[in-house]
Amino acid sequence: MPLRNLIIIGSGPAGLTAAIYAARANLSPLIIQGLEPGGQLTLTALVENYPGFAEGIDGSALMGEMRKQAERFGADIIPDRAVRVSLASSPFKVSTDEQEHETRSLIIASGASSTLLGLESEKKLMGRGVSTCATCDAAFFRGKNVVVVGGGDLALEDALFLTRFASRVTVIHRRDKLRASKILQERAFSNRKIDFAWDSVVESILDPEKGRVTGVRIKNVKTGVLTDTLCNGVFVAIGHKPNTEIFRGQLDMDEKGYIKTSRGTSTSVTGVFAAGDVRDPIYRQAITAAGSGCMAALDAQHYLESIDLKNS
Ligand code: NAP
Repeated sequence: MPLRNLIIIGSGPAGLTAAIYAARANLSPLIIQGLEPGGQLTLTALVENYPGFAEGIDGSALMGEMRKQAERFGADIIPDRAVRVSLASSPFKVSTDEQEHETRSLIIASGASSTLLGLESEKKLMGRGVSTCATCDAAFFRGKNVVVVGGGDLALEDALFLTRFASRVTVIHRRDKLRASKILQERAFSNRKIDFAWDSVVESILDPEKGRVTGVRIKNVKTGVLTDTLCNGVFVAIGHKPNTEIFRGQLDMDEKGYIKTSRGTSTSVTGVFAAGDVRDPIYRQAITAAGSGCMAALDAQHYLESIDLKNS
């Protein structure tokens, strides 16, 4: 394998924006697209807050455009996932299922994945009525009752989307106040198909014995009272965790596994940069991910220029 100037791990808004900038700077980046090409945005039906699209844009369509834009400038995107990295010395090594690559610089934009409730019944019924992607699975629940667990933007967006298909959507939230933005709260509160189970957590999902979802056992955290609610689907929307497993022990991370960055997008290893949700537990927006992807590409470009200058 030829030595690369730059490898980018991940193909969400951060990875593809980094690819666009790096390709335009003639760095011929290799993008290892990962298990979820286009990232989390491809699970979103309508993106209404990405600037430049007054009427909103379908998440997959937006990512498709970013990908075409990166490829137009010569970015090399491979349908593979990074399974191992060695960052001890430069050139860095990145192994995929297929082969090992070497690179002078690296941008990590591997994003984040859905957090799960951690229940045995959730594991058993995942894909059998339990889902982390309303956009992907809502259509299976036409005329049915479903629940959404969570109180953030994602939970309400999922609940609103599900009302297009389901006859009733119950949002189960562990507190009595939502974390979601006001606009989504207003839409959810005024939607007749949506109701709320406040101060409540899911104790178990019924019924693993039957191999499908028949309901949820909910516990009111204030009273301790258990209630069974009949439903056919459970959508878990309680946040995300960063995809940083393969970097553990090689890069500084916070206690939740988000990669620590300083001076822009620099990580604790010189020549390795991080962009997007993998380093951002706070903002986690497509536009902030794209912005940090741009920063990472510029940081990598300056780093490579400084090395070339030293060696000339
Ligand atoms: P989030 O804002 O972190 O909300 C997670 C929700 O799940 C919170 O309400 C939290 O409860 C609850 N939760 C966490 N762990 C739980 C557990 N173990 N059991 C039960 N409930 C649990 O995550 P998000 O909704 O995925 O959003 C992530 C980021 O993406 C946010 O910055 C959000 O603004 C952004 N986003 C934006 C849009 C949009 O603008 N259209 C759409 C989706 C996401 P507590 O409230 O009690 O902590």
